[in-house]
Amino acid sequence: MIPFLDLNQVNAPYIEAIKDASLRVIQSGWYILGNELKNFETAFADYCGSEHCIGVANGLDAITLILKALDFPAGSEIIVPANTYIASVLPVSYLHLKPIFVEPDPRTMLIDPKNIEQHITSTTKAIITVDLYGRSCQMSPILEIAERHQLKVITDAAQAHGAFYQGKKSGNIAHATAFSFYPTKNLGALGDAGAVTTNDAELAEKIKYLRNYGSVVRYRNDYQGVNSRLDEMQAAILSVKLPYLDAENVRRREIAKRYLEEIDVKNLILPPNDQVEQDAWHLFVVRHPRRSEFVRFLDSKGVQTNIHYPLPIHLQRAYQEFSHLSLPLTEQIHEQVVSLPLNPVLTDEEVAYIIQTVNQFDDQA
Ligand SMILES: *Cc1c(COP(=O)(O)O)cnc(C)c1O
Repeated sequence: MIPFLDLNQVNAPYIEAIKDASLRVIQSGWYILGNELKNFETAFADYCGSEHCIGVANGLDAITLILKALDFPAGSEIIVPANTYIASVLPVSYLHLKPIFVEPDPRTMLIDPKNIEQHITSTTKAIITVDLYGRSCQMSPILEIAERHQLKVITDAAQAHGAFYQGKKSGNIAHATAFSFYPTKNLGALGDAGAVTTNDAELAEKIKYLRNYGSVVRYRNDYQGVNSRLDEMQAAILSVKLPYLDAENVRRREIAKRYLEEIDVKNLILPPNDQVEQDAWHLFVVRHPRRSEFVRFLDSKGVQTNIHYPLPIHLQRAYQEFSHLSLPLTEQIHEQVVSLPLNPVLTDEEVAYIIQTVNQFDDQA
């Protein structure tokens, strides 16, 4: 069986370095908000080309803290993509803001800039773009719309560490960008972790306080903050892995290119191949109208797949208030998508086997 993702294998090359880093943290006697975090924040800001990086507890909190720091009035409308993971939207409703779902570009499955403006009202305050599957959104038209309507743009780049858009890294395009270092992400910790990047010094400072009870100096609290700190152990582990992120993304691109060139199955829609070198290829998401048969066939041949995601946000029980919305493109995407294995530890032989197996599905029709 070729597993969809084997984290043990993903982390194997770094075990010795992680052991050293962990021992260093244990013996430092300092486990929260110390030098390991500072060093990682500096390194990740450098990596993204952004001025500030604030480590937080996870990707969800990264989005929540950006929105909390921007302090929009309750009930403000926030434009969000209808096709995304629920974590992109939960912070909006959690902070008593109103998510306005926008349909994707059917080609990329990312928020369609053409559909945004019709949803902007006098209470719209921000657009959340999500670089889903590792591909940057069309940021030029989105930033232009935002500027015209004086909206903030926030990017959820939880799946897009190292992705580019017109030569700039995700993490240095929007007003603020949220990252997750959940273990399965392109840059994954060995536990929960996240970060915010921004070039807005004031915003960065406020998020830094908010993540630590709103504390400006010890026992002086200027904001009603939360506890959302990236701990020293995870920061040290992330510092070990960050220097290899680009090499891993190069390997992801190599595999994606082979899939794009060699997979050829009737009715199987591949991701667009116009941004291959800029895409971080977190996931390789294909679409097939007979998805369950396709998944069962691959499974019977020993190729494990995954579905990102099976049920859109507006049809989740948690969001019953949006069940009346008509979002046909999003619904069709959720019925058809399937993710093939794509990770830096796949061997050339495994990639060849996956391609060959996928291509056999044609014969079944
Ligand atoms: C993983 C993910 C998140 C949430 O990150 P956590 O660290 O699990 O909180 C948010 N948005 C997207 C698109 C994700 O893939």
